[in-house]
Amino acid sequence: MSVLRGAAPPLPHNARTLAALTANPSCDRRSLLDAAGIDKSALAAHLGLPRPLTKSQLALDYGLAFERQVTDQGGAALVPLLRQSLGLTLPEASYKDVNSVGSGDDRSPLRLRHTHTRALILSAAHGRSKPYTLVDHPVLSLSVAGHQAFLEPDVLAFHHEGIFHVVEIKSFPVIHGQPDPTKATAALTQAAAYVLALRELLTGDGLPADRVSDTVILINPRNFTRHPTATPYNASQQIKHLSRHLGRLRRLPELLDTLPPGTTFDLAPGPDSRPTRPHSELLAALATTRPHYTPGCRHHCHLAPHCRTEARNQGRTEALGTTVRDDLAGIDTIATALALADGHLHPSQDQEGIAQALRHAQRIHTALQGGHA
Ligand code: SF4
Repeated sequence: MSVLRGAAPPLPHNARTLAALTANPSCDRRSLLDAAGIDKSALAAHLGLPRPLTKSQLALDYGLAFERQVTDQGGAALVPLLRQSLGLTLPEASYKDVNSVGSGDDRSPLRLRHTHTRALILSAAHGRSKPYTLVDHPVLSLSVAGHQAFLEPDVLAFHHEGIFHVVEIKSFPVIHGQPDPTKATAALTQAAAYVLALRELLTGDGLPADRVSDTVILINPRNFTRHPTATPYNASQQIKHLSRHLGRLRRLPELLDTLPPGTTFDLAPGPDSRPTRPHSELLAALATTRPHYTPGCRHHCHLAPHCRTEARNQGRTEALGTTVRDDLAGIDTIATALALADGHLHPSQDQEGIAQALRHAQRIHTALQGGHA
């Protein structure tokens, strides 16, 4: 893996990058780059690709202010919401912020917070101490392709009957009980990484994985106000998907075997740390990996402009969108689809159904153009 990356240190994963793994599980190119910890943003920047849109500072500030509002004063606003959504019956909930432990700093080093979180969670899980119902700013770790990735959930709630629930604070609104489905799914996929990390922690200490619930609580602004509301979601699908993709990363030696010897994405930084690797070499290295471009790539992958151009240049059906690609399943290129439609290509047995549909569409198109169908 380090040969693929060159001298650069592996890029650490976080819940967002792990969630992105599930967005395009069929892409070998991305699987390889992620497993090797390659900085796709630096790679894309060196190739001169346009930067993806990021959240504005205003949106980031709003998100932070909302999170603070929910967790201020020992989670005063959060506790009643969780009591209601989790059915907590404790007369009061204790709250522990792990942001600053053992130092006067605003934020202690990640590893120190991880050690403290671990001790806190295990102690509570074994019933050795009064369990903290809420743990804020914990640091968990998850094994990703043989490396330890540190993850920072917004809050963890600990149920008094020994079941842990992950709680995520998100600044997108829930309007009349309905969140934006795309944003809710993305939030649940991130929460799935925290669920898996918590399970890894508990099972590593001999405790059962089901002590961490599949039910995740999202805290969002309600309607058009800044009043928080809590909604429980079943995240079992997202947990299953992420778990499968993490397993796939562990099987990467098979993908590595498909690469020509000596393939590397090393940016070859010079004395001023700027990349010096010729573009042509990097593009040739990328071409040795199998992409699986979909228009959705632009939401989660820095390489989307490159892969889109590549798909278009190769006349691949996925360049026309996911619906067309799925409708033409089994036909890889636009040229093949056109040749089947106008009869220049005889369909194989498994292409007969699609070829008929294409010829039908061709007849309608011709008729609409004023020709003879
Ligand atoms: S943009 Fe390219 S590398 Fe990234 S997921 Fe899509 S096809 Fe794979």
